[in-house]
Amino acid sequence: MTTAYLGLGTNIGNKKENLTRAIGLLSLALGPCTAHSSFIETAPWGFDSDNAFLNCAVAFETELTPLELLDTTERIERELGRTIKSAGGIYHDRTIDIDILLYGNVVIDTPRLTIPHPLMHLRDFVLEPLAEIAPEAIHPALGKSIHQLAAELGDTGM
Ligand code: ADP
Ligand code: MG
Repeated sequence: MTTAYLGLGTNIGNKKENLTRAIGLLSLALGPCTAHSSFIETAPWGFDSDNAFLNCAVAFETELTPLELLDTTERIERELGRTIKSAGGIYHDRTIDIDILLYGNVVIDTPRLTIPHPLMHLRDFVLEPLAEIAPEAIHPALGKSIHQLAAELGDTGM
């Protein structure tokens, strides 16, 4: 079993319900959610939108490989009505986004999947909820704890 930390975000529809439903569908597929953060409201990052985000971080123990886990999270995104994927740094409003943040201490860099998530250490809306449930987890590519990364990002005033 490997501990996987996922970052969830939504900025359209009933956001609280979108996160709750996503956690429910993830639990059906993966087994019980072993930790979840509070839901935090955040401003859109990387694009302009009037719709604020609701974000959280969750943990699961899984026997799926990283790619099987991505297949599962993408299936659940589609089930919850997500139609458009981001590409080339262009972001859109979305009913649900499920990102694989950490998968044990695995480091992967392939066209379809990068773990740890390549932007997680730059995003408050990822680090803040993740620090609630896994402050001591180590980012295996940067060799720093989530708590440390969150503090460093806070220091830059972003
Ligand atoms: P974003 O989350 O940046 O808004 P998307 O959810 O649309 O963008 O994902 C774009 C692509 O990112 C996906 O098609 C997926 O193949 C790729 N990807 C790479 N690494 C990851 C990861 N760690 N978690 C989720 N998706 C990833
Ligand atoms: Mg995503």
